[in-house]
Amino acid sequence: MDSYDNGPSRRQVVGAAGIGLAAMAAPAVAQTGGGGGGGTGPAKISDPRNKYPKPPFKDQKQPWPGLQSKMDPVPDCGETSYKGSGRLAGRKALITGGDSGIGRSAAIAYAREGADVAINYYPSEESDAREVIDLIHREGRKGIAIPGDLRDAAFCRHLVDVAVKGLGGLDIVVNNAGRQQSQKSILDITDEAFDATMKTNIYAPFHIIKAALPHLPPGAVIIGTTSEQAYDPSEDLYDYAQTKAATMNYVKSLAKQLAPKGIRVVGIAPGPFWTPLQVSGGAQPEKLVKFGGTAPAGRPGQPAEIAGLFVRAAEDDGSYTTGNVLGAGGGQGQP
Ligand code: NAD
Ligand code: MG
Repeated sequence: MDSYDNGPSRRQVVGAAGIGLAAMAAPAVAQTGGGGGGGTGPAKISDPRNKYPKPPFKDQKQPWPGLQSKMDPVPDCGETSYKGSGRLAGRKALITGGDSGIGRSAAIAYAREGADVAINYYPSEESDAREVIDLIHREGRKGIAIPGDLRDAAFCRHLVDVAVKGLGGLDIVVNNAGRQQSQKSILDITDEAFDATMKTNIYAPFHIIKAALPHLPPGAVIIGTTSEQAYDPSEDLYDYAQTKAATMNYVKSLAKQLAPKGIRVVGIAPGPFWTPLQVSGGAQPEKLVKFGGTAPAGRPGQPAEIAGLFVRAAEDDGSYTTGNVLGAGGGQGQP
């Protein structure tokens, strides 16, 4: 389970050939038509209350780590709506968990803003990942697929190596992959499950950042996906929530450490977002059907609604944003 089998000789640079957009499951949620990036006519304004689906959601469950193409509704990661304006032209980004959900929305936005993007994902997520690589290639950008298990320290180092070689450098590192398995009682969290959550959410960013640092030039940014759970932990997320507090904390520590090198460190804290994480063990079934209903917004966020924060965190205009946590919480979450 913890091993990986994609050494350099087998690393995959997935081509766009044969993967049509038509083959992709279209997000079954409202499409907004973008945010006015093109400069033609007024910017679109939409009512956040009815922009996207609200609970109740259909009861659904997938084996971990889940595929977003099989969710109902399919999450909106900005596939048809995100419009870029060159804010990351020529940048080189590595995004873990870039196949689906929040990481996918960042990957799409980064490519549309002009960046070359390498994504990591778990091997069983190949079909979601191929859709993302195809979308990156459609922007004329490099899209590099690097499957493997982040719980393995050696793989984390290998991942950075492959990304640096494939992209010709690195200046954006997004530690976004995460493991969330809800358990009502601490007594039900096995030693192995606890270990897997810590390895994925805390150890992997440690290994990735250590491997990436020698390659990062001044102006580069390291981004960590934290959570509302860092500040207001749920009773059924004992192990997961503390990793998100740790993420929020390392962002602040590392920002102080790396500021003298000109490297920024930024956290992004989502509230409840409609992603595969939630349907593959992340939420109890009774919470899933009401998912997002506790947020003042009355619905979960869709990944497309947070992509802009990842762009903001990475872009050069964000040069004074470091040690900060940017949020999209639907009215709840941050201190
Ligand atoms: P997601 O399921 O789309 O993404 C999580 C990704 O983590 C998976 O796609 C998978 O590729 C990756 N991953 C997990 N374990 C891995 C492993 N061992 N090896 C390789 N890859 C692995 O769900 P998401 O909600 O978009 O999650 C992205 C981040 O957002 C996570 O860090 C999550 O904790 C955080 N987050 C999510 C929510 C939410 O409500 N969905 C809220 C706050 C924070
Ligand atoms: Mg996934």
